[in-house]
Amino acid sequence: ASWIEEFVTSVESGRSPGPAGGKHAQRFGGQLVLVTGAGSGIGRATALAFAEAGARVVAVDRNPQAAARTAESSRRAGAPAAWAETVDVSDEQAMEKLAEKVTTEYGVVDVLVNNAGIGLSGSFFDTTPEDWRKVLDVNLWGVIHGCRLFGRRMSERGQGGHIVNVASAAAYQPSRALPAYSTSKAAVLMLSECLRAELAGQGIGVTAVCPGFVNTAITSTAHFAGVDAREEKRLQQRAARLYGLRNYPPEKVAAAILRAVVRNEAVAPVTPEARGARWLSRFAPGA
Ligand code: NAD
Repeated sequence: ASWIEEFVTSVESGRSPGPAGGKHAQRFGGQLVLVTGAGSGIGRATALAFAEAGARVVAVDRNPQAAARTAESSRRAGAPAAWAETVDVSDEQAMEKLAEKVTTEYGVVDVLVNNAGIGLSGSFFDTTPEDWRKVLDVNLWGVIHGCRLFGRRMSERGQGGHIVNVASAAAYQPSRALPAYSTSKAAVLMLSECLRAELAGQGIGVTAVCPGFVNTAITSTAHFAGVDAREEKRLQQRAARLYGLRNYPPEKVAAAILRAVVRNEAVAPVTPEARGARWLSRFAPGA
């Protein structure tokens, strides 16, 4: 579909495609899109991109003010309706309540974006069992709850749909600095591929999106915890020199998410380093 390339280009550039998505305002018209971790970074940019494409948006975050801001911005961006919900995605009961409420009040979710996640840096032996649990609870269990609760309802409705799980290049790029985080994301990647196989016959797509280094709050708090703003900037510049990391805006990840839904991609590596050799050898032999 060529419209998605045009739409992606405008979303990526950070320019809005225009009031209510310009001429593509109705591409996701009538669809209900739920984004977790929608209060900030990639989740917020994704909610707004779907809003510009005419979707109704449920912005879920554990931070109520942030969720409310995204819902408000979504309405301004062109969503015919947008709601904010405050939930911790790792809380099974709260997620069950959310799924029940959303289904009853807004309808069955057409596109689910399991994006909420937390970062954690530290060597393997510095990572305590509590740290492991915290990261796995949010990054893995949050995705499991979302897929089980909303995926089942999608499947029972029998009208297709799409699930996007935001994993990371860390899922296939081992690192000494992020053992718990990388493990959680590798699990999300495999979970997505298994669920994709299970739902394939029902017109429900599942995508694992794998961004590399993106400019959001998570990269400052996880990778540069405990340093002041000036030192953080210096470290980021150093990282950019060393690894060729650029200032990669969350809007570009949002654009990749919309494209992955439209094209029903299984796995979508996003930043230049995420599309590295290791990636190509595993997922696209011969590419
Ligand atoms: P961010 O910190 O800017 O946003 C994360 C949002 O999720 C915040 O609004 C936060 O309140 C919310 N959140 C965190 N824990 C939650 C919970 N338990 N329940 C509900 N909401 C919760 O970070 P981001 O960079 O936009 O990250 C979004 C996703 O992208 C994460 O899964 C992250 O691991 C992934 N990712 C980020 C990068 C990067 O470089 N920024 C790279 C690869 C993958």
